[in-house]
Amino acid sequence: LLMAYDPARRLARLQVSLERAAVNARMIYEILDIQPRQADRADARPLAISDATITFRDVRFGYTDNDTILKDVSFTAEGGKTTALVGPSGAGKSTVISLIPRFYDPAAGEILIDGQDIAHVTKQSLRNAIAYVSQQPYLFEGTIRDNIRYGRPDATDAEIEEAARHAYAHDFILAQPLGYDTPVGENGVTLSGGQRQRLSIARALVRNAPILLLDEATSALDTESEQAVQRALDEAMSGRTVVVIAHRLSTVVRADKIIVMQAGQVVEEGTHAALATRENGLYARLNNLQAPTAGAAQTSQETGAGI
Ligand code: ADP
Ligand code: MG
Repeated sequence: LLMAYDPARRLARLQVSLERAAVNARMIYEILDIQPRQADRADARPLAISDATITFRDVRFGYTDNDTILKDVSFTAEGGKTTALVGPSGAGKSTVISLIPRFYDPAAGEILIDGQDIAHVTKQSLRNAIAYVSQQPYLFEGTIRDNIRYGRPDATDAEIEEAARHAYAHDFILAQPLGYDTPVGENGVTLSGGQRQRLSIARALVRNAPILLLDEATSALDTESEQAVQRALDEAMSGRTVVVIAHRLSTVVRADKIIVMQAGQVVEEGTHAALATRENGLYARLNNLQAPTAGAAQTSQETGAGI
């Protein structure tokens, strides 16, 4: 039945071309419904979500057999709360995020969601529980409606429009020549950075998943876009377990918990208030470094500080 449904068929075609092309991970992250390549364990069970608490327990990981990128990483992202990952570039923040939907598996240790080891649940059920918003949203060839529907192939038009409204995208979509049917991508209309981000947030919202993984954009948007994107993100984050790679100081300060990473290890964790006053703490040093010019638009690329 699903295959008779046009967007699903299109998604299946996309899957094939993605597998062939070995495209970059960022693009795959946004389309979490892609069929996992490795089969589930014979005894895999569907993930049962209660409050969607994520726990890393002594997780070790390397991209090859002879490198170790993450060294015994342990932390808990509480259900319904926002956990910010901060730290210098190359610390392993994106790697941590990529282990949650099981794009890679740890070499040692375990990752639990509501107490269930994710290695023991079906990948389909795991990925159904997760939405991802990347730093540089990818738009596929197709209409605006198609691009939001990639978040969930069986979403109705009404659900797509609702997601777009919550992502503060509905109004600019209606202002396009063909509204939701306007083609985007290489042969379509050009959208601004802020508009693309809001489409990507709408794509995440239409999944209605309990877990949101967010790689905050580092590129500066104009003030108006910045505010619209921030409102859309606030909407997306509310009531979900959020793990955010935070580049904006405002996100870090508001997070329920901050995990500070350096060279593949968690070196500190706590709230902004607690970490900022810790003597000789890495976070306090990064924070002081940034303080004289701190502002909502500050990025790690501008400061080199990673927060
Ligand atoms: P961060 O997000 O904190 O900047 P990353 O998780 O992207 O850090 O990277 C951590 C380390 O892993 C870096 O040394 C990086 O070069 C390496 N790395 C990241 N992705 C890959 C990959 N796909 N293959 C091999 N090494 C990678
Ligand atoms: Mg990164």
